[in-house]
Amino acid sequence: EATANQIAAGEVVERPVSVAKELVENSLDAGASRITVELIQGGLSGIKVIDNGSGMSPEDAKLCFQRHATSKIKTAGDLTRILTLGFRGEALPSIASVAKVALVTRTRDDLAGTEVRMEGGQLLSVSPAGCPVGTTIDVQELFYNTPARRKHLKSPNAEAGQISDLFAKLALARPDVRMELRSNGRVIFCSPGNGSLRDAAASVFGPDNVRSMIEMNHQGRLLTIRGFISKPVLTRASRQYQNFYINQRYIRSIFISSLLLQAYQTLIPAGRFPLALLHIALDPEQVDVNVHPTKMEVRLAREKELAEELLEIFSGHLNVPAA
Ligand code: ADP
Ligand code: MG
Repeated sequence: EATANQIAAGEVVERPVSVAKELVENSLDAGASRITVELIQGGLSGIKVIDNGSGMSPEDAKLCFQRHATSKIKTAGDLTRILTLGFRGEALPSIASVAKVALVTRTRDDLAGTEVRMEGGQLLSVSPAGCPVGTTIDVQELFYNTPARRKHLKSPNAEAGQISDLFAKLALARPDVRMELRSNGRVIFCSPGNGSLRDAAASVFGPDNVRSMIEMNHQGRLLTIRGFISKPVLTRASRQYQNFYINQRYIRSIFISSLLLQAYQTLIPAGRFPLALLHIALDPEQVDVNVHPTKMEVRLAREKELAEELLEIFSGHLNVPAA
């Protein structure tokens, strides 16, 4: 069991940014409207995630470190329409197997909270704790018991930089949630969390860039799409300024990126890429997120029809014929 968790940890937790991602996704799944992440030494010494979500009952708090103890999938049918960010029940046991973890949590219905301490996959203690509604997870000394993995970590600054990029993506995914990132006690990023995609985009891309972009708000046959694409004059030499979300999940997608490029084809020089922030809403049954443990790659059903529709929408907003 302990070994299985460490092996799974190899897939899910590679470095501080993967820990931060899994923990913040859990906070989002718990319905939090405020999430704060505190890093010490870029997360190498400590990553603490504080949320005001649903919290866990004392029983669930003990269970959550057991493998596949997800509360999110109850039937096989649920797997075909995944609405939560997590569903594998692997993150917490994996993280707890390679770090020292303290969880403090309380639901609205419980008078007292619970504190659970884990170290290297072993349960150290469970005790009542006074705390507000929500969950705080403190992960210390990541990979303290797997020195081989510890060696692969970069400098605190480099690790913090990756987490800061993650925050930008998350803030764009959920403009309705206020997210704050602190590093060694200093606030390094904070999203407005007021529900406006434009304001979230401004906090990441800068207000001037967003003002000069083309806004999309389109209800199509298969999908709904909203967001911003750059005017053809605003391009970059890489695709890294393209952010795609399907049903509020950040994804990597060569598929969408190529369609976008196809629409811009006659308008921009080769080797340049438009900026984009796209939120696509699709029937969850059409999206298979169970392709890779990090869930960043998805498989889409009816790709051909989707491609046609997307190209039509992009071209329409750029006033070029859909090639
Ligand atoms: P998954 O997210 O795939 O279900 P995890 O290992 O990430 O698996 O979490 C295990 C379980 O712990 C979740 O299903 C959820 O019930 C509970 N949990 C984890 N983090 C939180 C949180 N921040 N707030 C409330 N419940 C949480
Ligand atoms: Mg999870």
